[in-house]
Amino acid sequence: MKPIQMVDLQSQYIRYKSDMDAAVIGSMTEAKFIQGPEVRSFESNLAEFLGVKHVISCANGTDALQLAFMALGLKAGDEVIIPSFAYAALPEVLLLLGIKPVYVEVNPITFLMDYTALESLITPNTKAIAPVHLFGCAAPMKQILQIARKHNLFVVEDGAQSLGAQYCSDEIEGFASCLADIGTTSFFPSKNLGCYGDGGAVFTNNDEWATTLRMLANHGQIKKYHHQIIGLNSRLDTLQAAILNVKLPHLKEFNLKRLNRAQRYNEAFENLSQLITPVLTDDSSHVFHQYTLKLNGVDREDFKQYLESKGIPTMVYYPIPLHKQNAYANGQSLPISEALAEKVISLPICPELDNEQQDYIIEHVKTFFKA
Ligand SMILES: *Cc1c(COP(=O)(O)O)cnc(C)c1O
Repeated sequence: MKPIQMVDLQSQYIRYKSDMDAAVIGSMTEAKFIQGPEVRSFESNLAEFLGVKHVISCANGTDALQLAFMALGLKAGDEVIIPSFAYAALPEVLLLLGIKPVYVEVNPITFLMDYTALESLITPNTKAIAPVHLFGCAAPMKQILQIARKHNLFVVEDGAQSLGAQYCSDEIEGFASCLADIGTTSFFPSKNLGCYGDGGAVFTNNDEWATTLRMLANHGQIKKYHHQIIGLNSRLDTLQAAILNVKLPHLKEFNLKRLNRAQRYNEAFENLSQLITPVLTDDSSHVFHQYTLKLNGVDREDFKQYLESKGIPTMVYYPIPLHKQNAYANGQSLPISEALAEKVISLPICPELDNEQQDYIIEHVKTFFKA
C-alpha cells in the first residue's frame, strides 16, 4: 500500500507527467515568465469552464479576496459580514484594508454561513456579505443574495475550496463563486485545482469591476508605467498557468473522485453513533475539498493519535473560530462555531486515494470505536 497522505500531489504529478513536463519545458523555453500567453489562455479556458464573463488571475487566493474588496471600493470603517467558522484569509484582508469583519454563525450541519443570523448583524456601515463555500459545498446563495439585495449590500464569494461545485435553486444557478458580484478561488497546491506553488483568481460578470481588478492586480496600471490607481503586484506566473492548463480538463473528474471517496466513507460510517458524517445539501453539488466529520462524545486527541499510530494523518479544519483568533478577535460570542471547532476532524481525501488505502482508513476508524 502507498503511504497515506492528506493529499497525494506526487501521484497526481506522475499520472500527468508527460503532459506536465512538456507544458513546463515549453513555457520555460518560450521564457515569457510574467503574463505570458499561458496566463491569458488559462483565464479564458477557466472562464469557459465556469460560464463566467471575466477571470482575472492573481498571485494567490488571499490576494484574490483583497482585490475583490478593493475593486468594490470598500474602505476603512466599512463592515463586512463573514462566517466565523472558516479560513483566516477573509478577516486578514479585511483588517489590512481597515474594514471591520463582523462574524456570523454557521449552520452546524452544513458548516456554511447561517443566513438566518445575517439580518441582525447589518448596521449602517455594512457594505458586503462574504460567504465561504466551505469544504467544497456552495453556501445558501439564494437566501444570502435575497438579504443582500434587500439591504443593498455586495456579495463576495470565497470559493477557494469549491472550484467546480454547482449551485442550483429556483432563482439562481451556476458554479460556486460565479453567482454574486465578485467571486474568488485559490490554486494552492492542495486545492481541488492546484498549481505547483501559489496562485489565485477573481471572477465577475461585471465589465467595470473586471477592468479595475485587472489594473489592481498589476500595480494599478492599464498601460505600462501609467499608474491609474494604487494596486498590488499580484499576478499568476506563466509557469503556474501552464500547469493549470494541463490540470483544468481533469477538474471534473478530480471532483467526481472526491465525491465518490466521500460517499464511500459516509456509507462505511453510517452505523457509528460516535461520528456525524458530512451531508449533501439540496441546492449544491459537493466537491469535497475536505471530508470533515463531527465527533460525538469522543476525545479528538485520542482518535487523532490512534490513527496517526497506524500511519493515517488527520487534520483539524479549524481548531479556533475566527472571532477567537488573537489576530482578529472582537469580543463576539458565537457558540455554534465555538462548539464545532472542538468537534471537527478531517480524514484524508483526494482523487488519488485508492480503495486499498481508504479501506485501511475505514478499518482503523472502526477498530478505534470497537475498543
Ligand atoms: C486556501 C484558502 C484561501 C487562501 O488561498 P491562498 O491561495 O492560500 O492565499 C482563502 N479562503 C479559503 C476558504 C481557503 O481555503
